[in-house]
Amino acid sequence: MDTAQSENLRCDVLVIGGGPAGSTVSALLADKGWRVVLLEKERYPRFHIGESLLPMNLPILERLGVLEQVEAIGIPKYGAHFVSDDYPDQDQTYYFSFALDKNHPHAYEVRRSEFDHLLLKNSASKGVEVHEGVRVTHVELADGAVVQAKDEHGQIRHWRARQVIDASGRHTFLATRLGSKQKNPRHASAAIFGHFKNAQRLPGRDAGNISIFWFKHGWLWMIPLHDGIMSVGAVCWPEYLKTRRATPPEDFLWQTIGLCPGVSERMQSATLLGEARATGNYSYCSSRLYGDGWLLVGDAFAFVDPVFSSGVYLAMNSACLGAEVVDARLRDTAAAPRLARAYERRVRRGLRTFSWFIYRFTAPPMHHLFMAPSNRFRMQEAVISVLAGDVFGKTPISRPLILFKAIYYAASARYLAGSLRAWWRRRRNAGATFTSGTTPLDQSG
Ligand SMILES: Cc1cc2nc3c(=O)[nH]c(=O)nc-3n(C[C@H](O)[C@H](O)[C@H](O)COP(=O)(O)OP(=O)(O)OC[C@H]3O[C@@H](n4cnc5c(N)ncnc54)[C@H](O)[C@@H]3O)c2cc1C
Repeated sequence: MDTAQSENLRCDVLVIGGGPAGSTVSALLADKGWRVVLLEKERYPRFHIGESLLPMNLPILERLGVLEQVEAIGIPKYGAHFVSDDYPDQDQTYYFSFALDKNHPHAYEVRRSEFDHLLLKNSASKGVEVHEGVRVTHVELADGAVVQAKDEHGQIRHWRARQVIDASGRHTFLATRLGSKQKNPRHASAAIFGHFKNAQRLPGRDAGNISIFWFKHGWLWMIPLHDGIMSVGAVCWPEYLKTRRATPPEDFLWQTIGLCPGVSERMQSATLLGEARATGNYSYCSSRLYGDGWLLVGDAFAFVDPVFSSGVYLAMNSACLGAEVVDARLRDTAAAPRLARAYERRVRRGLRTFSWFIYRFTAPPMHHLFMAPSNRFRMQEAVISVLAGDVFGKTPISRPLILFKAIYYAASARYLAGSLRAWWRRRRNAGATFTSGTTPLDQSG
């Protein structure tokens, strides 16, 4: 690698990627007075999937100073609506106002093209040097990092940074190169999705709620966005997605919707806007979160099934914690290694809490516990706290969650045959890979 340097290409921190994690970590570090360069390979606004936020995202948006802007582009979301054909006329809405901590009763649904753009502009307004249309192509980790990138005209540029933060999302730039990325064998699903006009919304105050539907090949979502748009998608077992063969993705998405009466009923007058997109086998985790001069934040570290809309929140939360580690390293304080270890513990703990529910979401006992909930020992309030993202704070969720898990395992015995089928399906799919054919999802996932 040609490492010819010029003075103006030096920085304290170089951030790879300008999604929610990259914009958050750079804004916070610029606020602390560091010279931060952010390289984003796309030009914004650009499409991205992942439109449903969690209530615990809001304090982070406030800290960044963008809450009012998000309110202006978002639709208030007061809860998550769960629907299952196995439990007709029994759909359940889990309202965030019923969480253990009642202080965060809503979140927002946002178009990611707008949300990500306002976050990126916010980091630029705080002094971050943002370069769009610049793709990082090589990183050499020695005494900080030398980063090579290519702009849209094919010109190669280099930066020398004291710290490099990988926020490249599912592209997992550093974890792939370091060989630390591990496919998650416990959740090998894939997704197909699109934006629609004229899909039916829920009535009144519930109009902004996300709807989640179980169906025999996985689950579907409906997320209402502004301008009358509805994001609709399905997360399915790869074996089902493989049956698409030569079917155009748009037709396959409609066929999939047709398999779920709850969704197709609300889609009778709907039309697809633009193309349908798909993403392949997608759960993974990096075995390392940080090393000398580098750190991973957001999806660059791990990705789990989005059934509980946890991705953006976990990404921004890890960015907040990661900013503290990098700041301590730049100041060369003795606390830096301890902060890095605490960072790893917290990030992995948040992921574990969500994963326990996610891995079991389509298993019959969980299906039953969600559709026939009980608030004995405040179990339902604790589950809603998880759905709100309240997994890092002081809210006492542990005891009611232990009870919920105990009841889940007891119910597993009752649903033994179905549980074994779900377990066996997970195992069989663990090895399978799905290629999305004509519409690969790259930056959008
Ligand atoms: C089907 C599906 C549905 C989802 N639904 C939800 C949901 O409802 N709610 C939710 O919270 N989350 C959801 N998610 C997850 C959510 O999209 C992600 O968790 C979130 O976007 C992670 O943010 P990030 O900043 O880590 O990565 P990203 O948002 O992916 O940002 C990474 C950025 O890095 C850039 N980049 C990549 N490589 C390079 C490079 N070499 N050089 C320069 N730039 C680079 C990319 O262009 C991109 O802009 C969903 C995900 C999927 C796949």
